Amino acid sequence: MVDLITQLEKIKPSIDKVINEVITTAQFINGPEVKAFQTELQEYLGVKHVIPCANGTDALQIALMSLDLKPGDEVITPSFTYIATTEVIALLGLKPVFVEVDRDTFCIDPASIENAVTEKTKAIVPVHLYGQASNMNEIMSIAKKHDLKVIEDNAQAIGSEYKLSNGSFVKTGTIGDIGCTSFFPSKNLGCFGDGGAICTNNDELASKMRMIANHGQSKRYHHDMVGCNSRLDNLQAGILRIKLRELDSYLNRRREAASYYDKAFEKIDGIKTPVRSNESRHVFHQYTLTLEGIDRDKLHHFLAERDVPSMIYYPIPAHKQKMFASFGSEDVELPVTDWLTQRVISLPMHTELEKEQLTHITNSVLEFVQKESE
Ligand SMILES: *Cc1c(COP(=O)(O)O)cnc(C)c1O
Repeated sequence: MVDLITQLEKIKPSIDKVINEVITTAQFINGPEVKAFQTELQEYLGVKHVIPCANGTDALQIALMSLDLKPGDEVITPSFTYIATTEVIALLGLKPVFVEVDRDTFCIDPASIENAVTEKTKAIVPVHLYGQASNMNEIMSIAKKHDLKVIEDNAQAIGSEYKLSNGSFVKTGTIGDIGCTSFFPSKNLGCFGDGGAICTNNDELASKMRMIANHGQSKRYHHDMVGCNSRLDNLQAGILRIKLRELDSYLNRRREAASYYDKAFEKIDGIKTPVRSNESRHVFHQYTLTLEGIDRDKLHHFLAERDVPSMIYYPIPAHKQKMFASFGSEDVELPVTDWLTQRVISLPMHTELEKEQLTHITNSVLEFVQKESE
């Protein structure tokens, strides 16, 4: 699904250099690379504050912890997402309220948010799934109307841009109150282990989240609130600085691969290629097809026999997970989510896909469709 080894070969001298520097100076925690990366990511995203942390899940948790919510407060989130988005809500004693996604963009459906708002609703966590922005213009206007906070789960969409209603483009993760991202190795900007970051334009939230990520500490050994320990390693920050310089070219490589796939499948009945929303510049963390009348699981096995990896993101939506049974969420009706869960399949997507590989992948899919229609 990803090829991190070929990608590394192209930047290996600078990576070796930074790893060597960090090791020989033995500055492993809170070193100069972390500070520099923080500043560079702020500039790249066009945001006032970046707070590096240990992983994307922590980023979401720290963001929620900064909002002073009370047990039982409700947080609206899509069910069709990676589990981390929803898990942290329950972990903090809050109630995840699962809503529907849009069939075309796979992202949270604003109409479904509006229907789910109650007196207890305090926040919305939209997920920019597969690398495409949620409908942030509508989400922000719903949030404003009901006085809700918005935390963007930007783990799959770093570098993606979104057109605001005034016509200007901004980076995803910088539109809501807080944006959260992950540097897990296979993400669009990945390090060599775990890593994450939070961003915000709000000074007060920024200093609070910085404290939370550092044991609630205001100055050394003065702990004003219960926090956690969540840091980005100096080594990972050094690696991320090098990869951040490549990010835009990485995103273009992903878009090129996506266009190749689009073209190969454009005239095929039963295969729906990813829909681009007008406001969003997709960064293709995943390239995900929706199949209608084509047996998805059979295709998955057929591809595996031809050495083509494919994945189902996500086979079980959050509201059907056992961990949420106590919220009675299995009874929530999310027909679009359930429908997508049965029909989506993601093809290999990374920065190193060569024409030959793409041809083999698309030919294998087309061969299966042909065979099944006979
Ligand atoms: C990867 C991911 C996360 C979690 O990031 P980690 O760094 O693995 O903790 C959260 N949300 C989404 C949508 C993700 O894809």
